[in-house]
Amino acid sequence: MPITRRDFLKHCGAGTLGIALSQFYLPEVLKIFEAAAAGEPPVLWLQGQSCTGCSVSLLNTVHPSIADVLLKVISVKFHPTVMAAQGDLAISAIEKTYKENAGKYILIVEGSIPIKDGGIHCTVGETHDGKPITILDWAKKLAPKAAAIVAVGTCAAYGGIPGGAPNPTGAKSVKEVTGKTVLNLPGCPAHPDWIVGSLVHVLRFGLPALDEHGRPKMFYGKNIHENCQNYFHYNNDTYAENLSDEGCLINLGCKGPQTYADCPKRHWNNGVNWCIGAKAPCIGCTQPEFPDGTSPMYAAIQDELRPKKVKINSLENTLVG
Ligand code: SF4
Ligand code: SF4
Repeated sequence: MPITRRDFLKHCGAGTLGIALSQFYLPEVLKIFEAAAAGEPPVLWLQGQSCTGCSVSLLNTVHPSIADVLLKVISVKFHPTVMAAQGDLAISAIEKTYKENAGKYILIVEGSIPIKDGGIHCTVGETHDGKPITILDWAKKLAPKAAAIVAVGTCAAYGGIPGGAPNPTGAKSVKEVTGKTVLNLPGCPAHPDWIVGSLVHVLRFGLPALDEHGRPKMFYGKNIHENCQNYFHYNNDTYAENLSDEGCLINLGCKGPQTYADCPKRHWNNGVNWCIGAKAPCIGCTQPEFPDGTSPMYAAIQDELRPKKVKINSLENTLVG
């Protein structure tokens, strides 16, 4: 069912509350969506070596329907999963945006970029004489004239699963390939709030404060373990032996102690639950070392990596002393 512009803006307000951004952002979000509806800023969303999970995460979760947002309101000029155009028409949308909006478009990349064998392991479209155009070609061409570059998901941010050993295609991150400042939004997949919230910040205020791995501190600044619902259990030596048990999941492979993201507070699927809440160990999906450095995923971390125990007196994580 088509939505009117008025309905859209109304829903954006509701959606922003769902995003749990500060109220400070609410008028700003509306302004940004309004500007987007007027045709700016143009967004090019490229997919490299990805499972499309980050797009699916975004499409499934944000209210109003992100499909409505992408297709009818925001100026996404190219997105291979959701755009109706195909073939030359689709590829020409990239070229047109590149030529007409140099210095203004936002380049979003989902998936890693293979560089081995000239990058032939991942291509997006072809030239008029039938030669494949690699994602490597596109990234190198589009990055220098982008107003901002955003790497969505761990594959784009750090290489991720395609970059895992033995990395047969030479998968690299967007930053490694372009040499530019990149806003990294890791996660396997990235949480839709991290994507939308970061874009809002970029469009309205510029780059948010980033950590040493290029992640916005506002979403990735906190340690999973220290904010976990099982923190009390960890510090009181109550460990789950099976995935359905009560207790800390560290002996079942939880990588929460080495992982930074706001999953314990934000939750997933519109706030329904999160990995550890569903009694699945955190696999460290937002970390640059994922997946090799967080594997084996269901094996306990080494003793020397276990956090020091602290004395707490309740399940509410109240620290004593
Ligand atoms: S090890 Fe994992 S399950 Fe246990 S408290 Fe830390 S984050 Fe939570
Ligand atoms: S809890 Fe861990 S594995 Fe789950 S989404 Fe968050 S960072 Fe990724």
